[in-house]
Formats: sequence, structure tokens, C-alpha cells
Amino acid sequence: MRQSVRETDGRLVSTRNGILPARTRASLGRATDPADDSPPVGADAGRLFARFWGVRGSHPVAHAIGSHIGVNTACLEVRYGPHVLVLDAGSGIVALGEALAREWREQDPGERGSLSLLFTHAHHDHLCGLPFFAPLFQRDVALHLLGPDLDGLRFAEIIAGYMRSPYFPVDFTELPSRRHLRSVADGARLVWRAGGAGPVVWDPARPVPARALVVDVLHSRLHPRDGTLMYRISGGGHSLVFATDVEVGDGGTPGEQRFVRFARGADVLVHDAQYSQEDYAGRLPRRGYGHSTPGMAARVARAAEVDQLILFHHDPDYADADVRALEREAKRLFPGSRAAREGMEICLDAAAPRQV
Ligand SMILES: [Zn+2]
Ligand SMILES: [Zn+2]
Repeated sequence: MRQSVRETDGRLVSTRNGILPARTRASLGRATDPADDSPPVGADAGRLFARFWGVRGSHPVAHAIGSHIGVNTACLEVRYGPHVLVLDAGSGIVALGEALAREWREQDPGERGSLSLLFTHAHHDHLCGLPFFAPLFQRDVALHLLGPDLDGLRFAEIIAGYMRSPYFPVDFTELPSRRHLRSVADGARLVWRAGGAGPVVWDPARPVPARALVVDVLHSRLHPRDGTLMYRISGGGHSLVFATDVEVGDGGTPGEQRFVRFARGADVLVHDAQYSQEDYAGRLPRRGYGHSTPGMAARVARAAEVDQLILFHHDPDYADADVRALEREAKRLFPGSRAAREGMEICLDAAAPRQV
């Protein structure tokens, strides 16, 4: 069989013919064979598509311009059918907003699908790009913002409180776009129907409509103070779990076991792997900071029997070579491991759903 998936430049693509086995269907790579006439990777109707716009944690890397891994903090775009989901609003969301504005310039507003921002928690590295997200300033744009209530604050208060004077000159309530804010909590299921409208809260006991995009929510307490939300995004028979800002131990606690059940059988697990083992447990230990090592992430990936593990939330002090070393370490423990980098794309084809 001709292998049409190869590792080159950070794209995680499904095969064009859909006959590769499940383990290789979602492998990293980009077709480079000149004879390969497969269509460009992108967001087609039946595909669950994702693109990393920011892969760092803590703060953007101002002193490493030109890093191949990337300099921006957490932001992941996911598309399915007419829907665009944005996971977290770290500094990576700024370039995504500009790309969306360019794309929409060509389109009638009535032809656009939905745009939804899903927040894991409110730490600065996951919010710092929000005030610079171009669609917020567009009169003809409707956005759905969803995230957790934390530390006694409602989600809407957290967002509005972040974008107001004296922290920012434009008040969130005075923006021209139409914004719909909703708190989401542990156990929630959100459904985006095929028609293109925004999310509805769905009873998990009810069958899901055909061709719907589904997001399940887990409130993990494996991060300091009030934890984070994890999101499991499903469409076209595939699923991606976004689990950033999480510190797992040996897998023995009820919280860790719950996380593993939540991620079970996913095609792709995006998992925090901020620290090397040396930094995690060494002379100035980062234990308790709420972040994992590649070894911890690999343990979760194995226990949850996912296809691919993407290491995420790289430390801002780590050079590309350091991140590569973490990637090699993860690969030794879980072969389907890759380090996220800006511009990396994931494309899971509906024509080849995972068989579990
Ligand atoms: Zn973070
Ligand atoms: Zn955090």
C-alpha cells in the first residue's frame, strides 16, 4: 500500500484514500511527493480540522522570534462543517482573528457559520490575546463565548472584567460585535447542528443530531486554585481532546482516572507537557505548578488508548531543541507523540472514522 502520509512540516493529515489503518490515519505529515495530487489540507465539510495558533504556556516568547515551535500562547482553532471553534485566547488568537477577517471579507455575512470561543480557564496566558481578536470589533459578527465560572466569579464577569479600564481602553460591553456569553460546567454537552447556528446545551442522554459537532466538558481539578475545563470535540466519527494546564501524578487519583475515562479512545489528545522531568523534579522543582512532563502525558495517552498525543503548553524558556528533546522522550514512551508547533494542522477525515 502506498503511504500517502509522511512527516515533514507539522501537518497531521488523514490519508486521501482513507484506507490506511487507524494507527497511521491520523499521523503527522504533509504530502510532499510531486505525484501526490491529493487536495490541500483544509476545512472541508466532513472533516474535523484543527490548527494550532499558539502552543506556549505562561507568557509569549518575546526573545525568540523565529522559533520554529512558535512564540505565542495557547490557541487552537477547530472546524467542522460550517462551525469554527476557538479553544482559548492566548496571544495566538491575534493572528487567527486577522485570518478570519480576511476570509470573511470575501463572504456574505449570511453565509458564515458559527464562531464560538471556548475557554479552559482564565489564567493570563489563555486570555491575553482576547482584547486584540479582530472579530470582536466587527459589527457584522456574532460570537458565542463559553467557559467556566471560577473562584466565585461568573464566566461573563471574568471576560468583561478582563477587557475594561484600567486594563484595556475599550470596554467589553461597548464592542460592536454581537456576543453571547454562557457559563459551562462539568458534564455539559454542547451541540452545534449541521445548519450553522450556534451551540445548544444538549441532554447527554438524548441522541445527537446527524452531522452535528459535539463538545463534552470535564471540569478537572488538576490545576491550581479552581482547575480547568477540558473539552472533547467530536465530529464525523472522530474526536480530539483538549487538555491543557493539567498536572497528573501516577494515575491513581479519582481525578486522574476520570480524566483518562474522558479521553478514552480519542483520535488525538492535546496534553500539557510543559516541563522536562529534570525541571519538574530537580533543584527548583515545578511540582504543584499544575503542569505535566512528557512522561506524564504519555502515561495518560497510553491509559486512554488514544491514537495520537500532541504535547502542548511548552515552557517559554525552552528553545526549539529543548522541545524536540521532550518530543523524543514522549515518543519513546508513546510512539504516536508529537510536539505542537504553530501552524501544525490536524485533519481527521469523516470518510475514515476510527474503529475502536
Ligand atoms: Zn497556561
Ligand atoms: Zn493555567
